[in-house]
Amino acid sequence: MHNSATRRDVALVVEKIESLGFQALPMPGSIRTTVGVIGNKGFVDEDRLLHLPGVQEIIHITKPYKRVSREFKPETTLVKVGTQVTFGNGAPVLIAGPCAVESYDQLQHVARGLAQAGVHMLRGGAFKPRSSPYSFQGLKEEGLNILRQVGDEFRLPVVSEILSINDLDQFASHVDMIQIGARNMQNFDLLQHVATLDKPILLKRGLSATMEEFLLAAEYILNQGNTRVVLCERGIRTFETSTRNILDLNTLALIKLESHLPIIADPSHAAGRSDLILPLSRASLAAGADGLIVEVHPNPAEALSDGRQSLTLDQFIQLQAAMGRA
Ligand code: PEP
Ligand code: MN
Repeated sequence: MHNSATRRDVALVVEKIESLGFQALPMPGSIRTTVGVIGNKGFVDEDRLLHLPGVQEIIHITKPYKRVSREFKPETTLVKVGTQVTFGNGAPVLIAGPCAVESYDQLQHVARGLAQAGVHMLRGGAFKPRSSPYSFQGLKEEGLNILRQVGDEFRLPVVSEILSINDLDQFASHVDMIQIGARNMQNFDLLQHVATLDKPILLKRGLSATMEEFLLAAEYILNQGNTRVVLCERGIRTFETSTRNILDLNTLALIKLESHLPIIADPSHAAGRSDLILPLSRASLAAGADGLIVEVHPNPAEALSDGRQSLTLDQFIQLQAAMGRA
């Protein structure tokens, strides 16, 4: 719409779109309002809309993802977690913590150090999606209880991964942000159910997902009316096996152009080894990442999962200092 368009002009456009059998989604921006059209199979005839008062231009979105695209909404979406944390405002958000919550003492120890170091959010898996059924599967409900307790103790908002729709209520009551892990990126039933909770979502890229598949997974969440989505590039599988995964900074930078959603990087799962976390963190922020999620363990050698890629607290503090944050 023109920046001079009135509320009534917008309402008339919405009415017209609906009369054509589509859904209209008005999105007021700081300069002008955009009205999204959803539900059209093919091209929408411009002549039906262009003559209406206040209409400036019709932009056809050719991509399969719509609600997540910058064509649809040019301004970066700010995703708030609680009152303290905002993703997408230009200041990187730092999330850190162990891969898995192992005990109250373990989490409390690491969270104290992280809080002192000034991290913004605490991570900790309670339900772990392990490649082998014989590996530690997480403390489950007890893990979520510990995470909530320790998060409250140090005033750190918490994020944890959900694996099943059976656990929706527990996640709703225990965490501030819900993580959908790489292995569940295309679990559409889970995405749609989690979207209905009034919570921000951290959506990790699938191990072999293309950018389009990644953005379409996010589209499932936005299509349920939840726009509080933060994407996470966590490394993909390629022919290269010398590191666990490849941190795909091409896609991270491209997503900043393609989508208005914030995106953070997970150098820990990308590298699979602690000595690459610093360069990959720097590279991610240089490429435009809106934050980082990093695994930190009080004693990585004893960690029940992902010890090789976990930093010690001291290493984490060095990382922050090297990035000019401490
Ligand atoms: C994790 O964050 O510990 C995790 C399992 O991540 P991903 O889903 O990216 O493998
Ligand atoms: Mn992990």
